[in-house]
Amino acid sequence: MTFTLARHPAVVVPRRVALAERTVLAPGFVRLRLVESSPGELAGFDAPGSGDHFRMVVALDAQGQPAGASSTYTAVAWQVEAEPRWVDLDVVLHDDQDDAVGEPAAEPRAGVARWAASAPIGAPAVIAGPKGSVLMTGRPERALLAGDDTAVPALRRYLGMLGAGTRGDLLLETRHDPRALGLEVPAGVELSILPPVPHDPGAAITAALTDRPRPLPAPDADAGADGHDVFVFVCAEQSVVAPARAMLARWGIPVEQAVVKGYWKR
Ligand SMILES: Cc1cc2nc3c(=O)[nH]c(=O)nc-3n(C[C@H](O)[C@H](O)[C@H](O)COP(=O)(O)OP(=O)(O)OC[C@H]3O[C@@H](n4cnc5c(N)ncnc54)[C@H](O)[C@@H]3O)c2cc1C
Repeated sequence: MTFTLARHPAVVVPRRVALAERTVLAPGFVRLRLVESSPGELAGFDAPGSGDHFRMVVALDAQGQPAGASSTYTAVAWQVEAEPRWVDLDVVLHDDQDDAVGEPAAEPRAGVARWAASAPIGAPAVIAGPKGSVLMTGRPERALLAGDDTAVPALRRYLGMLGAGTRGDLLLETRHDPRALGLEVPAGVELSILPPVPHDPGAAITAALTDRPRPLPAPDADAGADGHDVFVFVCAEQSVVAPARAMLARWGIPVEQAVVKGYWKR
């Protein structure tokens, strides 16, 4: 089995929304439901790629225009064909004292995380995006998926897209119970929980990628087949990007046929 990834750009549409629901999935991890602030705002929203994301702006000026704090979030689920139209996202409530590797802060620092933790129901925001989708054709022989809490929404969607027959590894740098985060790991995927290294986010994933051997091709693999056999997704704190790219180079996988991204910077 082989796959290819293709990137499809999309027109970015700003959409006015309002906070409708907040559900605590785990300490320091909330799901927000955003509804359209007027009929049609969310019409046409789509995020077909498993890692598709949008910017959310939570500081608006008196005219309701985006005016301040904004961050990037993965689309978890959405309903836009019927009313009420909504989009769900999951937000990690980090604080800047402990790099999100100690105990969750009672009060997240200012910014989108604080808004996610404490904005009143009805609070306005604007979302813009996705600005493109990464879509997979075919299926990989094996997958190596690695991420921290901020990547859980994308990991969930990748696991769902790859399906029950997926074989490979999931490296999760987290202090949460993955079941509380809604991660369903197929039987063929080996889950490794990597305890975060205090004050060194990304270090646990980096250690797991360094010198990691490439999965062996399947015995019946067609060496002449088009496409790639191993799908790699590594998204976490920025420091994981260089070791993940070094691993791709060792494994002979082109960077554009993998998803490797710094989701945030310490
Ligand atoms: C493609 C993509 C998809 C993403 N999807 C999600 C998602 O679905 N859910 C999600 O929660 N995040 C996601 N992120 C990460 C999120 O955009 C960042 O964590 C963002 O910095 C949070 O914004 P903020 O306003 O809270 O903090 P910022 O104003 O950006 O940063 C302020 C301070 O907080 C620190 N900080 C930021 N994020 C973290 C963190 N996670 N842990 C510890 N300290 C942090 C920064 O180092 C900085 O010192 C995604 C990022 C990308 C690029």
